[in-house]
Amino acid sequence: MIIVPGIVGKKYAILGLGKSGIATAACLAASQADFVVWDDGADQRDNVAKSGYRVVDLAQYDLTGTEALILSPGIPHTYPAPHPVVARFKAAHIPIIGDMDLLFQACPNATYIGITGTNGKSTTTALIGHILKNAGYDVEIGGNLGTPVLSFTPLGKNGIYVLELSSYQLDLMRGNSLDVGVLLNITSDHLARHGGMDGYIAAKAKIFTTAQKQQTLVIGQGETETRALAEQARKQQNLTVATIESSGLDKLIDPASLPALPGLHNWQNASAAYMACHALRVSTEDIMAGLNSFPGLTHRQQLVATVDGIRFINDSKATNADAASKALGCYNDIYWIIGGQAKEGGLNGLEPFIPRIRHAYIIGEASELFAKWCEGRIAHTLCGTLNVATHKSAADAHKDNIKDAVVLLSPACASWDQFRSFEHRGDSFTTMAQLIAKNWAKP
Ligand code: ADP
Repeated sequence: MIIVPGIVGKKYAILGLGKSGIATAACLAASQADFVVWDDGADQRDNVAKSGYRVVDLAQYDLTGTEALILSPGIPHTYPAPHPVVARFKAAHIPIIGDMDLLFQACPNATYIGITGTNGKSTTTALIGHILKNAGYDVEIGGNLGTPVLSFTPLGKNGIYVLELSSYQLDLMRGNSLDVGVLLNITSDHLARHGGMDGYIAAKAKIFTTAQKQQTLVIGQGETETRALAEQARKQQNLTVATIESSGLDKLIDPASLPALPGLHNWQNASAAYMACHALRVSTEDIMAGLNSFPGLTHRQQLVATVDGIRFINDSKATNADAASKALGCYNDIYWIIGGQAKEGGLNGLEPFIPRIRHAYIIGEASELFAKWCEGRIAHTLCGTLNVATHKSAADAHKDNIKDAVVLLSPACASWDQFRSFEHRGDSFTTMAQLIAKNWAKP
């Protein structure tokens, strides 16, 4: 766990008691700070009261002498409107910070890589972490996903923190100690939380606008927004700007040779990882070794079984049409499992991929809507459940006997109508696919 020096007896308040809020409380307790905690949810409050922390309603609490409010990134502090407690601290001119600020303060000598973007954050973070670990560096990986940063092991000057940063976390950042910042791409997402596209772009830009030391900014150039940001960054004194498109990785390695990173979008992630590691002077051999041995992330175009030339791909993380389009672009002869809770726009935008799809297997709440979209365009079957869809698609693929056929769960929907989470959905598919493959493989 991280211990923050120099805060013994100092007063703090924590708002938000999810994973990162609880880790913050543990860190402040170990650092002997004087702090109170609050969450609007009674369950969360009861949960921490058991740990002996002081639970105090921050809407009533006397703020005198409080150093800072440490806010969970999920709680709005600007758009659409600040949380009332946040507004109170703002009015009292008390700084509002995130857990990342405390990490920077506690481990000033470590090296930091931060990764953001609308899509590809987790993949690129895991990939960079994998390359560095594989090359023998002392590495901690986490942030927005996985381990909260204040639960990390403290690292000194030979250690590297690889941090996935959401726009919410960046929005809270007043100053950052990143040696390398990676900004992959910007497309519209979470706009309500940032007061529209300008607010969202400004939050993402904080990865370099709040840089407090010399930083290499690795930035994609796929959109007008990122191109404009690169222009802006080139004018900032403490930055070295490197565009992902100029990585030159294609001269070193064939994209098709990276099975765990299929598709152009993953090529962007791989190129970004290459440049980020290169900026830290990791050898090209070590980077190539890491790219080749990366196992991929679960639920993102994850190959979970192969039998009789049929590949079963778990892309349960594709919870909207845009994410599904990335997987659809990677394969031909797809037996496609879709459905769940539809997002706005449904399957619109996926028309160009229709020739690649042999049959669609539809499940969940979106059944009627998706069947209508498929009508007259794609052969489809209403399956109801994932269980039925997986068995039917596998049987059809087997019967058709096409070389390189793919059974693809890339549902373009949220999972909550039938599953606890996209992970739960992906795990269910994986278990079934592996069982089917095992049974077929029997002599
Ligand atoms: P994030 O952490 O930003 O949500 P992930 O790495 O978990 O991103 O990838 C989520 C989905 O986004 C993937 O399944 C894929 O469909 C898509 N994706 C991944 N990388 C990129 C990229 N560089 N550009 C566009 N889409 C991507």
